[in-house]
Amino acid sequence: MDSRQMEQLYQWRIQVKGRVQGVGFRPFVFQLAERLAIHGEVSNGMQGVKILAIGTLRQLEAFETAIRQEPPRLARIYQLLRLDEQTISMEEAARYPDFTIVKSDDIGTPDIFIPVDTAVCDDCLREMNDPHDRRYHYPFINCTQCGPRYTIIHDLPYDRPLTSMVDFPMCSACEGEYMDPHNRRHHAQPIACEACGPTLEFYWVDHKHQGWVKAEKEDPLSLTKRLLKEGKILAIKGLGGYHLACDAFSEETIRLLREGKHRLHKPFAVMMKDMETVRRYCEVTPAEEKVLRGIEAPITILTIKEEAKELFPPSLAPYMNSLGVMLPYTPLHHLLFDDELTVLVMTSGNESGLPISSTFTEAMEALIPLVDGILTHDREILQKIDDSVVRLVDKQLVMIRRSRGYAPDPIFVPENADGIIAYGGNQKNVFAIGKGEMAFLGGHIGDIDSQEMLIHFIHSKERLQRLMGVTPQLLVADLHPEYATTRQALKDAELFHLPLIQVQHHHAHMVSIMAEHQLNAPALALVLDGTGWGDDGTIWGMEVLYGDARDSRRMGHLAATPLPGGEKAIREPWRNAVGMVLQLLGHEGLQRLEQLPAMEPYLQQIPILQHMVERRINTPMAGTCGRLFDAVSALLGLCTKAEYEGEAAVQLSELVKEDGIGEPYSFILEADPHNPGVIQINHGALLHELLRDIEKGVDSASVALNFHETVVQMGLALLEHGRKQLSEKEASAVLFSGGSMVNPYLRRRFLHCSEERGWQVYMPEQVPANDGGLALGQLLIAAAQRARESTLKR
Ligand code: ZN
Ligand code: ZN
Ligand code: FE
Repeated sequence: MDSRQMEQLYQWRIQVKGRVQGVGFRPFVFQLAERLAIHGEVSNGMQGVKILAIGTLRQLEAFETAIRQEPPRLARIYQLLRLDEQTISMEEAARYPDFTIVKSDDIGTPDIFIPVDTAVCDDCLREMNDPHDRRYHYPFINCTQCGPRYTIIHDLPYDRPLTSMVDFPMCSACEGEYMDPHNRRHHAQPIACEACGPTLEFYWVDHKHQGWVKAEKEDPLSLTKRLLKEGKILAIKGLGGYHLACDAFSEETIRLLREGKHRLHKPFAVMMKDMETVRRYCEVTPAEEKVLRGIEAPITILTIKEEAKELFPPSLAPYMNSLGVMLPYTPLHHLLFDDELTVLVMTSGNESGLPISSTFTEAMEALIPLVDGILTHDREILQKIDDSVVRLVDKQLVMIRRSRGYAPDPIFVPENADGIIAYGGNQKNVFAIGKGEMAFLGGHIGDIDSQEMLIHFIHSKERLQRLMGVTPQLLVADLHPEYATTRQALKDAELFHLPLIQVQHHHAHMVSIMAEHQLNAPALALVLDGTGWGDDGTIWGMEVLYGDARDSRRMGHLAATPLPGGEKAIREPWRNAVGMVLQLLGHEGLQRLEQLPAMEPYLQQIPILQHMVERRINTPMAGTCGRLFDAVSALLGLCTKAEYEGEAAVQLSELVKEDGIGEPYSFILEADPHNPGVIQINHGALLHELLRDIEKGVDSASVALNFHETVVQMGLALLEHGRKQLSEKEASAVLFSGGSMVNPYLRRRFLHCSEERGWQVYMPEQVPANDGGLALGQLLIAAAQRARESTLKR
């Protein structure tokens, strides 16, 4: 044994967690080991990839660094743990004369890994643009390192006959590449070419007869491009469903699209030709560029350049200073762009409130009234999945919608969650399935406000359950009795005789952050959210909680104010403003409110609301950050009626510039009259001072900035209060969660202020802070409860 004879040998056991299975990780480790003359073995397990490595200290360190720094394109390492390290003798080392890949079947662990869909790689793009390549301009080019996966899988193991590629027998050229271990398409299951693979088709929509006609004369791609340039709206089949697409510079077309989709304000995401185009219109940091060009290719929220604002038509993203941008991620997308077509609106192909269309029939039914034509193909989509949405705050990735490209990657949790099914919330729904110490989150389903959405939820959940081979043992849902997901969970529990746990909304928000950071010890959490069912009959949404997955207690919160009209007040923030002002500033406050120009259209309704509030008719009490944002947005006249939940808050936060720090308004901490030992924030002074600023004519951007800083100071005050009640050790970790934490100002300031105070801070990262992360928290809470019950029984 060469030079090793001189040096002490070590044996390390390394565990790598993340997206490391089914992405060529073991062969990669094998090659590294060969390069660095490491002996040992690598295997797949329920806890990720396990490596046993023997070598000198120098060799092992180089090995570990290389694993971190040069993993395969599709791999994502979330955690690399050195489980143990020890010196070993030459004799012991001799048991591993070389480095081997242990097959999964040999150790009895099933490969339960489901690969994710990823953006086309540079090698494939190069071939696609090479006139001499046999796949020149072929829109379905892919390889082992890129292309469709989760969306085309019918069953596991991931193998061509079990995907929607089963309909396309390989030609001999493709088969040759598929079989050749040295080819970059060796075992690329969706491998295809012009001769054997899927093909494009274009259908004209015949509005008069509510039907469609296949375009025979013109090539589908050139036809599509011509029509887009002419200002037409088309449906285009993507990876997880159809997009509605049109030229982003055509004001008239976008207006038509908005009318058709009944979506007048909500900003549309765009797809830009390349990075050069993105840089022309948006501010882009290197970190943002990396995400845009990443294999997940999510919609990334970028700041629009000041000088570029006038270039876009006003209805593309009204009142926004930012824009959701993505780069082309399928080969077909790349082929759509040229010098004249550089930015396309790409919004998911559905009617408002319905799931994204993924089959030709669905697309035709849902989209006929909206589009002039449809560019489609014959590779079936077996799982609908929406585009993911992210934003970067201080170079940190903030997940807003975790879907295509990320789902269903596992998240490792600190408890056995096997057989637990978490139903999530009702808005921005995502479900989670437990397998061992892993949580598999499905893609973004959306707001479950229709029968169609509920069916989409049920199908997606059952499909993932089946793929994972999980038999449900325990169900978990929100406390809210009116959530469609809660009702479904109750039904399923009864039907299948399964236990059901219902979890308080903000406890789940808090624990989802604990889950993703694998925290086991109790911590202090600030949850800033829209609305959630409290356990005292009021609506919560601005809480400081202390606890863990087993239990939590509420130590403080925002004072509850009336929400006249309940749900209606969420859509009509002016109602909420009236309730809040009346409660905190009384009749005098109401008179001041009536003087505001923004309230003019509602003057006749205000006395009715006043009556409702006084008599508590259809007027729940709510203390939530989201509704506080809504009320302020209404007082400022930004948004008195919202088209979608959170619109008012979005408008308010869009006024706040990247850097600046506001001057907080006043507020007081007082005892909660209904809950002994609990404090609450009385925000009467805030409203008073804010009204005064509006009356004085202070500009809205300054008021918005100062209001944002007030929310930061309120949150910190709640946390400081919590910390005072706890010992140093109990209060060591502080975490932040809830829908308002996607607000960049709040996130940046909370992180900064917590670090200044020397707190150990945990922020939502892999999983959305909003209700898209709820299911993960529910899953861990159920797991912890089950674990405790089984210890009690013993
Ligand atoms: Zn490729
Ligand atoms: Zn072929
Ligand atoms: Fe929530």
